[in-house]
Amino acid sequence: MPDALYYTINVVNKVNTTIAAVSTPNAAGGIGIIRISGENAVGIADRCFKNISGKSLSSMPGYRAAYGSFFDESGDIDDGVAVIYRAPKSYTGEDVAELCCHGGLFVTQKILRLVYSLGAVPAEPGEFTKRAFLNGKMDLSQAESVMKVISAQGESALKAARNTLSGNVSKKVNAVCSQLVSCSAALAAWADYPDEDIPAVENKKLGETLEDVRLSLQKLIKDYDAGRSVTEGVNTVICGKPNAGKSTLMNLLTGYERSIVTNVPGTTRDSVEETVRVGDIVLRLSDTAGIRNSSDLVESIGVEIAKNKIENSDLVIAVFDSSEELSKEDIELIELCKNKTCLAVINKSDLPCAADVEKIENSFTHHIVISAKTDDDTDKIRSALESILGAGGLDFSGEILAGERQRRCCGNALTYVENALSALGAGLTVDAVNVDIDCAIDELLTLTGKKASEEVVSEVFRSFCVGK
Ligand code: GDP
Repeated sequence: MPDALYYTINVVNKVNTTIAAVSTPNAAGGIGIIRISGENAVGIADRCFKNISGKSLSSMPGYRAAYGSFFDESGDIDDGVAVIYRAPKSYTGEDVAELCCHGGLFVTQKILRLVYSLGAVPAEPGEFTKRAFLNGKMDLSQAESVMKVISAQGESALKAARNTLSGNVSKKVNAVCSQLVSCSAALAAWADYPDEDIPAVENKKLGETLEDVRLSLQKLIKDYDAGRSVTEGVNTVICGKPNAGKSTLMNLLTGYERSIVTNVPGTTRDSVEETVRVGDIVLRLSDTAGIRNSSDLVESIGVEIAKNKIENSDLVIAVFDSSEELSKEDIELIELCKNKTCLAVINKSDLPCAADVEKIENSFTHHIVISAKTDDDTDKIRSALESILGAGGLDFSGEILAGERQRRCCGNALTYVENALSALGAGLTVDAVNVDIDCAIDELLTLTGKKASEEVVSEVFRSFCVGK
């Protein structure tokens, strides 16, 4: 059972309210769900729902649904179903009532306002999941993966998020943490009670355990980094001189006309942000103005933005027009792309080739020849991206950290473990080694939330939507 004790002590007074929110999207749909959680959830539901069988919701056990109608003092509002969950067997660990009505914007808001008037308070973003964490239904790493499930854009991202939600990452992190705790306890006992007959911790054994922990943490980080293109998306910039075919390529990837495509050089003036999925890889794309020197002010601003974007992106897709000789701008782009993770796209393969393709191929580790306009080369692009970003062979049913916060904790823990190993190798005192081990333990406890500060918990739930 996850242990949210440290944090619970700080916030124990804040969770005795009954909260409510619309849990379905803020749009018209077949069904709308108003979720209520807390001590008075079922009582509140009872005061606005007439069960067709005449039985009150309060008299019902958990995991039961009732058909009836929602009403206020002026009469019936809508027909629907009320689903009851009883603490602790609910998502939040509290009593929960889910009122399912027709999914109109007005009707859901009307029932929500009614629920507020009967004593519920508006739920904050992620508050249902936060309560699940505080009530020990899941740890922090699982809570984070809830949002990953919701925002997953592909099969592998969903698989990774569901795995974390099921507790795989927590299990792995807890196991690593236990190894460190055993080391720390043995070192502390030996150092603190020199007169007792406690056997000295063998440096060799300690070194082996720390090495084992180091490898586990490294693997967690490596797999997360390799899978990041799938689970988080890659900050990508498409660049190339005007008319190279950037917008056409982007439209091919997005599947619809997002950028303005024209054969007048310099038409793509603003950066247009777009998220696209190529296979399982998610690219956060921006289509930029062509790289060229221009006396046109607006275009120049675009070019500066492009140069900046190259510097700040994780991946550059450099587009070249193979039907024209390489220009000064093309050469400049090749220079700018040095030391960046890049895919060179040699475009317009349907036209006679006039460019020095060999020069492009020699300048980029990864390059493909395509016709963005006439062929559907998305498979070619996908496999090139998979091999660049290393997401190809990754097993998403393994332990994949759910987000940057978890990676940061793992990275910090790894640094401390490496420091401990160095201290051990340098023959420093047991105390010095143990300080680093304890810091590594703290980082892992922060990751799972067993020892998370209010600030960390807020960071996690800040990104949630209301109603989850
Ligand atoms: P951008 O300025 O780099 O965004 O270039 P665009 O995508 O606007 O394309 C410029 C022109 O080249 C348009 O007329 C496109 O239809 C054309 N174009 C783009 N890709 C190809 C291609 O693969 N083959 C041919 N023949 N024309 C292309």
